[in-house]
Amino acid sequence: MQFTDSHCHLDDIAFKEHLPELLVQCQQLNINRIIVPAISPSNFNQVLELAKNHHKDPICIYPCLGIHPWFLQDLNDTHLAQLTQSVKQARSDIIAIGEIGLDGAIAKKAEAHGQSIEDNWHHQQHFFDYQLNIANEQNLPVIIHHRQSHDKIMPFLKRYKLNKAGIIHGFSGSYQQAVNYIDLGFKLGVGSTITYSRAKKTINAIKRLPLTSLVLETDAPSMPLSKEVMSNEVKSDELLMTYESDATKKPNNSPVNIIQIFKVLTNIRTENVEEIANQLESNIEQVFFSHI
Ligand SMILES: [Zn+2]
Repeated sequence: MQFTDSHCHLDDIAFKEHLPELLVQCQQLNINRIIVPAISPSNFNQVLELAKNHHKDPICIYPCLGIHPWFLQDLNDTHLAQLTQSVKQARSDIIAIGEIGLDGAIAKKAEAHGQSIEDNWHHQQHFFDYQLNIANEQNLPVIIHHRQSHDKIMPFLKRYKLNKAGIIHGFSGSYQQAVNYIDLGFKLGVGSTITYSRAKKTINAIKRLPLTSLVLETDAPSMPLSKEVMSNEVKSDELLMTYESDATKKPNNSPVNIIQIFKVLTNIRTENVEEIANQLESNIEQVFFSHI
């Protein structure tokens, strides 16, 4: 069985010192592909460099370029122009536009920065719209961040009807919300949310959805798995423990955890383990590596 982490911020400073060991560990676990979204123009070069240095077997890192809704507070159209230029320059290397999206919690916090909620939504939507347009023009899939924003994201996706669609990253929501995305060709990123038994709505949705609509992701170094799942594990991920003992850099999650997320998924689903693993890999192929 082979695995792909479809969403990992591997260029994060938290991974810097231990990256070679981490990649060896991924390789030993058959995690052979890691997709790394960018978050703002300030990390475009890091993401592209990282991928350039690891673009062959046994482990391939694939870059995406985009501006994340958390980091656009002080950005403007100059940065969007910069994104367009970087996408054109790196077009043959990148496999998606991401991480882009809309975040309701960020909008609600806007008042603390002296901005109205409406103005913040407007700013986020301007960036989202622009980036969907780039994806459309370049025939690339998108990696979408959502939080308290399904209702706001959906009209954009319906309007653009992107040829390659993409991934709803870190999906959490109801069965119906998931189906709405799947109807537009999107796949759902299954991550640490399913390791929390309290996430009943999301777990129930992931249980019932077609297996052809799911991909695995960690979102490392963010989005830790539940303590319940981590403490049940034999401590095979010693590297993660090393990180935790380092007081200056503390990733809460690592791409090796794709294996734990996969195990939880196999408990939720009825298909056999190999069938699940194979289908998840075909789903990745379909979104990112098919030439439609
Ligand atoms: Zn992310």
